[in-house]
Amino acid sequence: MAFGWIEEQARARRDAGLVRRLRPRPAESPLLDLASNDYLGLARHPEVTEGAARAARTWGGGATGSRLVTGTTALHAELERELAAFCGFEAALVFSSGYAANLAAVTALGPHGSLVVSDAGNHASLIDGCRLARGEVQVVGHADPQAVRKALATHGGAAIVVSDTVFSVDGDRAPLAELAEACRERGAGLVVDDAHGLGVLGDGGRGSAHAAALAGAPDVVVTATLSKSLGSQGGVVLGPARVIDHLVNAARTFIFDTGLAPAAAGAALAALRLLAREPERAARARAVAGELYTRLTTAGLEAVRPDAAVVSVRAPSPEQAVRWAADCRTAGLAVGCFRPPSVPDGVSRLRLTARADLSSAEIAHAVGVIGETRP
Ligand code: PMP
Repeated sequence: MAFGWIEEQARARRDAGLVRRLRPRPAESPLLDLASNDYLGLARHPEVTEGAARAARTWGGGATGSRLVTGTTALHAELERELAAFCGFEAALVFSSGYAANLAAVTALGPHGSLVVSDAGNHASLIDGCRLARGEVQVVGHADPQAVRKALATHGGAAIVVSDTVFSVDGDRAPLAELAEACRERGAGLVVDDAHGLGVLGDGGRGSAHAAALAGAPDVVVTATLSKSLGSQGGVVLGPARVIDHLVNAARTFIFDTGLAPAAAGAALAALRLLAREPERAARARAVAGELYTRLTTAGLEAVRPDAAVVSVRAPSPEQAVRWAADCRTAGLAVGCFRPPSVPDGVSRLRLTARADLSSAEIAHAVGVIGETRP
């Protein structure tokens, strides 16, 4: 029977308690949200939704074609100019998702004959970029500049080092300055995914590279998503103009993909302008993360000290993590739940996101629920 093997996999998943299900979210959810990636609380900001609506009215419901044909509007160009200026880079290129941006950066900058050094804790989209890249891939230990140095030393030709800036599972930060130094010793390029750093870290949310004084460097490329702190949808690659020109000509997920929807571009641009006007939003997200962490540890829960807006709480087992998240939901609190195969180390976690618009009372209430429902 066609697809007969699926049943076997489904049974194994059921037996392990690892079945995933879609739960449509109502427009007005009664749950307190510590699960979304809307770090700055901008996804429903009236200026952001109006930016989306205005763009759709002006440019249409879709981009109508790939970027190199009809899919580049004046709005795309404006968004790219402003993203580059805000983050401190020479140029920017937007994509239909952060996933596509990562595939583009890693494949186009890791060609045949090159070396791609990748952190073991990287996001799935960077891992898939490595799988698709024609270069030789070496996976190195998590956040380990010495291991990166060793890997780079094995190869004489062109090389890139690929890492998340803030890792999505534990919310810890990559040692960017040391990684940049290791790259410079060998003339390698540094490609970092700032999905969880843009809008949260750096001066006014200008991102992790800005915070590490690496923004605009000729050997640094940053990718990010427009779907987290900017409350929209889409991705971006930031870097030197010559690198961005190369992506336009060589990155398959740029060339063969329909351009970013105008509504998404309009929402992201409105959110970016809001953030530029209200830089305290970034600091507030970091402060909320700190308060969440302090309250969790005071309550005796095992949390990882957050470097950005992701707060990870250890769960004893995958099954208990799933039940814990479900019990939180029953008690009115939405939290994320990471379990194998999303967590390669097998340690399951609740994943909380610190939104800038959470009040202290809401943080205290959330921690109370997590404490009361702990396994
Ligand atoms: N990189 C990281 C670290 C992410 O967490 C995500 C989103 N889950 C992505 C890339 C992908 O971005 P997008 O959702 O825009 O495709």
